[in-house]
Amino acid sequence: MSTVSDSPTLSYVRTLNPSPASAEERDAILANPGFGIHFSDHMVAIDWTIESGWHDARLQPYGPLQFDPGSAVLHYGQEIFEGLKAYRHADGSIWTFRPEKNAERLQRSAQRLALPELPVEDFLASLKQVVSVDRDWVPTDDDGSLYLRPFMIANETFLGVRPAQTVAYYVIASPAGPYFSGGVTPVSIWLSTEYSRAGRGGTGAAKCGGNYAASLLPQEEAAQNGCSQVLFLDAETGQHVDELGGMNVFFVRGGDTLVTPATSGSILEGVTRDSIIQLARDRGLNVEERDITLDEWREGVDSGEITEIFACGTAAVITPISQVKSRDFTIGAPDAVAGEITMSLRRELTDIQHGRAEDRHGWLYRLDA
Ligand SMILES: *Cc1c(COP(=O)(O)O)cnc(C)c1O
Repeated sequence: MSTVSDSPTLSYVRTLNPSPASAEERDAILANPGFGIHFSDHMVAIDWTIESGWHDARLQPYGPLQFDPGSAVLHYGQEIFEGLKAYRHADGSIWTFRPEKNAERLQRSAQRLALPELPVEDFLASLKQVVSVDRDWVPTDDDGSLYLRPFMIANETFLGVRPAQTVAYYVIASPAGPYFSGGVTPVSIWLSTEYSRAGRGGTGAAKCGGNYAASLLPQEEAAQNGCSQVLFLDAETGQHVDELGGMNVFFVRGGDTLVTPATSGSILEGVTRDSIIQLARDRGLNVEERDITLDEWREGVDSGEITEIFACGTAAVITPISQVKSRDFTIGAPDAVAGEITMSLRRELTDIQHGRAEDRHGWLYRLDA
């Protein structure tokens, strides 16, 4: 199990929700939770000021925030977030997956967005606080989870352009069902040739709302073309694959090699991506982190050298890709089936997360102890 130190610097004032969802209401939601629609009964809030640092940690009833219309985040988008899941194991215990990676990434995102860094121990403690009161919101079914959404906003009332001196961190939680309710099926993705997600020196490696705001229009274009996700190329040359709007991408070459774009600069360093690289190496597969061009993709699919393509991220874990479409061309076929390596890596990873397979790398972190 994880070796991260467990001594947070903040102590909590806890206020329980006086009118939580009833067991019946909660069970009705958990029977069909969807994704990101329903929220548990409690949340965490921690304040930061330039004078006092992090302080005033609270566990409180889930509910609306109140802040000034002049708050910096509403105008200049100084916001970052994380996403990870709590899983219920067969014995009822509740775990999450490599949360120190999310904690460290939140710190890197904070650096890039000129926000304060939350200590790793306090990040971990904030997750435990929510689960300590909302454990009944963690679904009991095989592939369900409680999605945890930590986020940080600049809430200083100030319209000047500089880093805010008043900030707040929150954690909310939302039950999630299996991402693919009818079984895992390959998706078509849309290649955006007009828009970029991130440029050199930009915020591509930070998990910030602004990156998502910029991806919504191309995402809409994807939907209009019958695709569920949008794929971005690197902004500089428009030749290499970067990533999807919210997922990293992998190619299986020659049956024994995984190729994925290197995360230097504009690509978000996914925890799922990193875990897949490790699991693939454990199996003796080669993993290459390098540029992959559209030409290599097209030629590889045509020659049969590239046999599988998939995207990965916490929400959907691994999503097989059948084809990529753009205005001018299509690579792959709509009826391509999910590949064997894709599906076995997916199975292995979800089995570890849900406690059905050995946690060889000490990736699981207990939230309810
Ligand atoms: C969150 C995210 C991912 C996936 O990261 P995980 O840690 O695997 O969930 C990939 N790309 C972008 C742009 C993201 O925001």
